[in-house]
Amino acid sequence: MTRMTSWVVSANTADTHFPLNNLPYGVFSTNGTDPRCGVAIGDMILDMAAVEAAGLVTLDEDAAFDLPFWNDVMELGPEVWSKLRARLIELLSEGAAEQDAVAPHLVPQADAEMHMPMLVSEYTDFYAGKHHAMNVGTMFRGPEHALPPNWLHIPIGYNGRASSVVVSGTDIARPNGQTKAPDADAPSFGPCKRLDIELEMGAIVGTTTELGQPITVAEADQMIFGYVLLNDWSARDIQAWEYQPLGPFQAKAFATSISPWIVTRAALEPFRTSTPEREKDLLPYLQEPGPMLYDIDLEITMAPAGKAATTIARTNYSQMYYSAAQQLAHHASSGCPMTAGDLLGSGTISGPEKAERGSLLELSWGGKEPLTLDTGETRTFIEDGDTLTLTGAARGDGYQIGFGTCVGTITPAVTFP
Ligand code: MN
Repeated sequence: MTRMTSWVVSANTADTHFPLNNLPYGVFSTNGTDPRCGVAIGDMILDMAAVEAAGLVTLDEDAAFDLPFWNDVMELGPEVWSKLRARLIELLSEGAAEQDAVAPHLVPQADAEMHMPMLVSEYTDFYAGKHHAMNVGTMFRGPEHALPPNWLHIPIGYNGRASSVVVSGTDIARPNGQTKAPDADAPSFGPCKRLDIELEMGAIVGTTTELGQPITVAEADQMIFGYVLLNDWSARDIQAWEYQPLGPFQAKAFATSISPWIVTRAALEPFRTSTPEREKDLLPYLQEPGPMLYDIDLEITMAPAGKAATTIARTNYSQMYYSAAQQLAHHASSGCPMTAGDLLGSGTISGPEKAERGSLLELSWGGKEPLTLDTGETRTFIEDGDTLTLTGAARGDGYQIGFGTCVGTITPAVTFP
């Protein structure tokens, strides 16, 4: 696959995240106007509400683009998604007959404020990266018992909070919570002291299943509308005290950040890759009929307040042991209904090498091996004022399918009586 050429010239460079091949979906506003649907192309946004009003794009259905979410479009299903993408490619391709009609509806990204791209109906987070699970398990339980006995058979997950999923750029207050130091007699309450990130991909479910209706992995794959970068902020000291026996709760509930642009499954199609070789055969309902991961380069940077950013890790989404389609099939296997706007966190994405670890817990090995940033500061966990940025792109021949960035700055904990 090579780069497609657009009459929007900024879309035709090798380093743009948003060539014509990508066309990710977001929600934006300018100068206090109402948030509405938009499509990224080069350094511009195509105002979908405006092109719809001009009669240039019609969905033939009861969905509209002058809304602050893409959920209605998602619910129309994969055939409509394909038609919409084909029409956008037609309108934005070099030599398009409609160029003069479309051009007035482009807005510079630099002038836009980005909002949540969809209403998050539910949020589930998984634990499906083997290098991450091995690292964390080794720290907490030792190398012999690093992987729980179910890990190679089930994509382990927990039900998270949709209410605290926020768009990139939203400041995150350091959470308060209950913790207990190993040598303390009693727990105490106060600001988290071991605040961390988790580098993940978020899969966005676009269609619905009924209560009681299981789905195959192939059907699950077809239900995925697109992917975003996801930072599953984690309070490690709160997590360590609360997590047994029912898993993480307040340690994860305070915030999850996502990147503003939903990169569609169609745009990622040339970058499909297989999950690693199975160490134990999966039960038939979890077996994949084809490659369902994607080759997406990922990176984390950390910047102290007012200082330059340092890249602290680089990894790839193809390191996951389970795909989003497998996670979705597992999620529906009990009969749990899935809805448009369901968000599935992949689990922390770590590679085999130290520089490929997707959390500070792993990078600093539980706080024992501080990182030195390019600016000279050292870090084990996140300090107030630090900005953490995730970025990612699938690299093609002279182009990339980029995700933009997922950014969050930590502000001091609120005072608690
Ligand atoms: Mn997570």
